[in-house]
This record gives sequence, structure tokens and C-alpha cells, in this order.
Amino acid sequence: MDFLRTESLLLDAAMGTALIGQGLKGRAPEWNLTRPELVREVHLAHVAAGAQVVLTNTFTGATAEEAAAAVRLARQSGAKHVAGSLWAGLPDLARQIDQLRETDAIWLESATSAQQALAAVKTAVARTQLPIAITCALEKAPLQALRDAGASAAGYNCTPWPTDAAGADVVKPDSAGIVDPAVWAAKIPAARLRGGCCGTDARYLAALRATSR
Ligand SMILES: [Zn+2]
Repeated sequence: MDFLRTESLLLDAAMGTALIGQGLKGRAPEWNLTRPELVREVHLAHVAAGAQVVLTNTFTGATAEEAAAAVRLARQSGAKHVAGSLWAGLPDLARQIDQLRETDAIWLESATSAQQALAAVKTAVARTQLPIAITCALEKAPLQALRDAGASAAGYNCTPWPTDAAGADVVKPDSAGIVDPAVWAAKIPAARLRGGCCGTDARYLAALRATSR
């Protein structure tokens, strides 16, 4: 059963900005090996707030060793599902997908053009049997074309927020400078799969979870 097509789930909140808040200077996936306890803490905080899907700390591209550690740390959170996060525009996307084969889904994020999003989905379909999610950092994304290309779920993440999220399976926006999680959560459009991107944390997830009840 492809959980991305059937389930309504609370996603996680930001990893990158959380690690920067802990003093991260270089590449985030490095911390899967050098500061695993901090990466695990972020996952655990999200799961404690209700996240049912956590994304691996691999967005910017990982080495094989970093990717293996990322999957292990995400699994240790106890989340219902672990998905492998990758920027849709990574030059070595096929290899990065191979490294995340022990996850439950490949999660392509922050596509900055419709063309990049479609290319990423096609690369993933050719490379893996896992369910594929694609989210775009665009005001408007070709959601149906992305599903037709093989994505199980399509939608939006980070910034800008979509002008119209109708038909989106996934909505995972940034905090948009909104410091009150309840105000933020009230503005999030309806979608089957919802969470937070840059600047959001467990408090935002808890507020979002409350709006879903
Ligand atoms: Zn973001």
C-alpha cells in the first residue's frame, strides 16, 4: 500500500534551520555523523509534537555514510514513516536516491521551477520503487503533471506560499516570519499531508495538529 496516496498525515517541521540554531556552520548532513544526538533531538521533538512522517537530514545531498546515518537517526525517532529528503535540483539526484533506499518514500523538495520538479520525479521513477513525493517552492506548480509523471503526492513547501493550494496533496510552508504558531497554523491551507518548513519547530506542529482535529 502506497501510504502517500492514501493517508492523511502530520509531517515534520524544519531540520536545517533547527541545526543552524544549534550552531551549524557547514553542511547539515555532516552532523548525522559528527553531532548525531542533535539531529536525533530535532526528530524526536517533531514526533513528540505529533509528526507521523519525518524527513532524513539529507536535503542538500549526503555522502553514503551520512545518508546511512540519516536514515538510522530518523528511524530512531519512532515516526510512523521515514522519508528521504532531497532537493529536487541536486545534480547527483539519482545517486542520492539510491542512498536512501532504506526509507519508506523519496521526498523531493523545494523545486524552483516546474521543469526541475518534473525532471526530478522522472529521475526518481526511473531509480526507485518507493513512493515519491514532490513539493515545489513556487506560487503555482503543475500538480497533475507531477502525479502523471509518477509522484504519489504533489504540493508545496517552504516559500513562497502557494497562491492557491487547491488540489495539493502536500502543504509544508515556512514560518513566513509569523512568530505565533497558532496564527501560522490557522493560515495553512487544507491538504492531506501538512507540516512546516524553514523557521518552524515542534510548537508550530502542535498548533497545526490542533487545527486538524
Ligand atoms: Zn524551507
